[in-house]
Amino acid sequence: MTSAPTASQETPEERDPNTDDRHVVVMGAGPAGLTAAWQLTRNDVTVDVLEADPEIVGGIARTASYKGFRFDIGGHRFFTKADEVRVVWHEILDRDDDWLTVPRLSRIFYNGKFFQYPLRAFEALRKLGIITSALCLLSYAKAKVLPRKPERSFEDWVVNRFGYRLYSIFFKTYTEKVWGMPCSEISADWAAQRIKGLSLLEAVKNAVQASRGGPQKAKKDGEVIKTLIEEFEYPKYGPGMMWERATEKVRARGNPVRMGERVVTVRHDGERVTEVVVDTNDGQRTYGGTDFLSTLPIRELANIIEPAPPQEVLEAANALRYRDFLTVVLVVDRAELFPDNWIYIHDPTVHLGRVQNFKNWSPFMVPDTSQSALGLEYFCTEGDTLWDMGDEDLRALGAREIEQIGLARAEDIIDGTTVRMRKAYPVYDDDYKENVATVWNWISDNLSNLQLVGRNGMHKYNNQDHSMMTAMLAARNILGESWDPWNVNTDAEYHEEEREDHDTAGRMIPQRLT
Ligand SMILES: Cc1cc2nc3c(=O)[nH]c(=O)nc-3n(C[C@H](O)[C@H](O)[C@H](O)COP(=O)(O)OP(=O)(O)OC[C@H]3O[C@@H](n4cnc5c(N)ncnc54)[C@H](O)[C@@H]3O)c2cc1C
Repeated sequence: MTSAPTASQETPEERDPNTDDRHVVVMGAGPAGLTAAWQLTRNDVTVDVLEADPEIVGGIARTASYKGFRFDIGGHRFFTKADEVRVVWHEILDRDDDWLTVPRLSRIFYNGKFFQYPLRAFEALRKLGIITSALCLLSYAKAKVLPRKPERSFEDWVVNRFGYRLYSIFFKTYTEKVWGMPCSEISADWAAQRIKGLSLLEAVKNAVQASRGGPQKAKKDGEVIKTLIEEFEYPKYGPGMMWERATEKVRARGNPVRMGERVVTVRHDGERVTEVVVDTNDGQRTYGGTDFLSTLPIRELANIIEPAPPQEVLEAANALRYRDFLTVVLVVDRAELFPDNWIYIHDPTVHLGRVQNFKNWSPFMVPDTSQSALGLEYFCTEGDTLWDMGDEDLRALGAREIEQIGLARAEDIIDGTTVRMRKAYPVYDDDYKENVATVWNWISDNLSNLQLVGRNGMHKYNNQDHSMMTAMLAARNILGESWDPWNVNTDAEYHEEEREDHDTAGRMIPQRLT
């Protein structure tokens, strides 16, 4: 494996002399766009960053705010195995007091009780009560004696390893909320990827380790299983603080990050992109450049290329799908509600999927520590009933559901707001890989100075570290090196070859059975 050089290894002497003539247009000011812009800026390349949002940088990793309350679009842990990404984080947020180390507490809420997440087998059986526990063990025994064959669906896969009872309590409801489809229609591959390393036996081993006071660092093939990591870094004002500071640093060195400028056309001459056109409040503007980086969703990008790509490329792009997300933020007039950073809601009687308690990520996320701000997360698809609900109705739904499950009282809720995030999750269906390849092959054959980076930019279900690493490599390509950002794996590590049998995105989205 070749490891990517660290940011701190770069020196001006190593620069390609041609970079002085380079001008790069970066589309999107999320983690990928701003990382690329920062890497290029510090190497004295001129850059224009074009961002559709009128005010907020950071894309999905933004920190939104409402009357002094700050909140994430889904809580964003800063965790990476890639040293070069950590170097960039601390280069951007370079003061010691910018960072907090946050102990992780996240539990499952089911039937009025909290269960440690990841599950601890003994605690789970104790809290479920004697009868339910006995039924769980019986159904586990049944699954061992009479396993479901063939093992086609997510449901089959989990039932065979945990038994039907435990599956229906700890897997079914949440998974169906997130993906909006029955577990019996989700392919088994996804379970194998997603729950890899975990089985009832593994859970029991972890429980024994934990009860002996040992560190909960279960290892599988030498790898720490990611769900078990017990603390993480977090910027004290949320992830958006990182991207706000990156914007300041890029601007301070003379490169603009232009807000409210949505890219609506990407023009080319058959060999290279020549310019992009943006819509602004004052009409359209055009930006030329030598190199172009796109973090736009692939479906959106393909449809604004002019002259248009061939029909089969457009069809492939238009077949790509996404899952959307909304957060109902409730301000609760209570200093303490629960100690968790976030809680998974396995109660099937509510739509609510997960609850964030932002004060438990950082006390700086609230203006007044005698109050709390909860982020109620609903997984949806643009145009469905939840997505189309008015803001007032969503707040009322949130207040009703949080009271119903007993995490807060409706009478203590004094304010609230909602935030919608389109295309939060790129969907991995049966054809997505082929569709992405069709679009990328056409771009790489016809538009030699356009690189795709980031999460929706590459249609990969990535965390920030991965999105940033692809951008860092793309920037280095512009500086004269030769890297393939498509070979960055889920741990934000670079592999010279993408292994056929290994999905480099790793964090899979389930596929519907056909
Ligand atoms: C619920 C949830 C929880 C997550 N939790 C974590 C976590 O705990 N830790 C972690 O590291 N990561 C987490 N992530 C992943 C993280 O948010 C992404 O990896 C990261 O934001 C991707 O960065 P990006 O720049 O590729 O894309 P984005 O964040 O999508 O940014 C793209 C930018 O491009 C802009 N844009 C789009 N179209 C146009 C256009 N036509 N013209 C101009 N601009 C445009 C958008 O407005 C946006 O600002 C989470 C994601 C979700 C959805």
